[in-house]
Amino acid sequence: MTVSGILDKAGAGERIDRAEIELLFAEGSLLELGQAADAVRRRKTDAGVASYIIDRNINYTNVCIYRCRFCAFYRTRDASDAYVLPFSEIADKVAETVASGGTGILLQGGVHPDLRMEFYEDLLRRLKARFPQIHLHAFSVPEIWFLAKAERLPVSEVISRLMAAGLESIPGGGAEILEDETRRRILSRAKASTSQWLEVHGAAHGLGLRTTATMMFGVGEPIAARVEHFLGVRDLQDRTGGFTAFIPWTFQDRGTDLEGDVEPVGGLDYLRTLAIARLALDNIDHVQGSWVTQGAKIGQLSLFFGADDLGSIMLEENVVAAAGVRFRMSQRDMERTIREAGLEPRQRRTLYEPL
Ligand code: SF4
Repeated sequence: MTVSGILDKAGAGERIDRAEIELLFAEGSLLELGQAADAVRRRKTDAGVASYIIDRNINYTNVCIYRCRFCAFYRTRDASDAYVLPFSEIADKVAETVASGGTGILLQGGVHPDLRMEFYEDLLRRLKARFPQIHLHAFSVPEIWFLAKAERLPVSEVISRLMAAGLESIPGGGAEILEDETRRRILSRAKASTSQWLEVHGAAHGLGLRTTATMMFGVGEPIAARVEHFLGVRDLQDRTGGFTAFIPWTFQDRGTDLEGDVEPVGGLDYLRTLAIARLALDNIDHVQGSWVTQGAKIGQLSLFFGADDLGSIMLEENVVAAAGVRFRMSQRDMERTIREAGLEPRQRRTLYEPL
């Protein structure tokens, strides 16, 4: 099969296989990949629209037992700048989000060894009681996997207890690259493996919870690892249909253990990978462009390479900022960025419902 044959196949809505995806990475040109991904994006989502959300990442603690090599955010429990936010501070941040027109929050640690089920359930309950209108998108695989082990509970019981306390969806954090050889190189040993990450999301979908699938690439992984990641996500989506979106972004190395060890991914590799993701993930409706790691200009271009959404204007973001990358965007900037691309901006909620 030639590249143009594969692009025709994907454009017609047919599934492309591992070898075909690998050939797109090896031989597809930026422009032909972009054109094909844009055509698929227009067919699958509202062609004249790009969406975004107003929400806030609240990192309730920076203490983490995992110590991933790619992470500049975590601290040990006894570090001078280690913190666990008190409820009042978290509530103030949510109140500010509401006042700025925000509709949701993304709550994420650090995996603090002393925080157990009661802490998480109590936090969700109190937030839901005080801010019933705010969507709680919270606690990704590292926290859930840790809780299941620490509390000796099945993963599905941890998730259903969190749902009973107010959890409304789970972000895709902890996916990084879903290929175990690369994971072994960049993660701490105890962090969930590929199959465990997929197991947690499968369990959440089985309980009726929607989640997102993310991918952090550019950690020196072979292209085959990116393809493996796409296939793992696509296969689970075939079985459950629970992913709302695929959200790829690029690794930022400043302040991490991997600093200087890997060649940073540039804008072109980012756009090619984004376009191939749109073509390979035929069963996921939404693909998000990343202005947080790539900046507004590449974020804008992503709307021509398969992305139909630019994610959050992010009233707060700490994890990427810890690696020295601080792009900022107001709601006005976001709407202008989308309009300049010839599309109509549409604010959405966490599960992609329009406001
Ligand atoms: S990436 Fe997440 S799990 Fe890994 S060390 Fe950082 S905060 Fe912990």
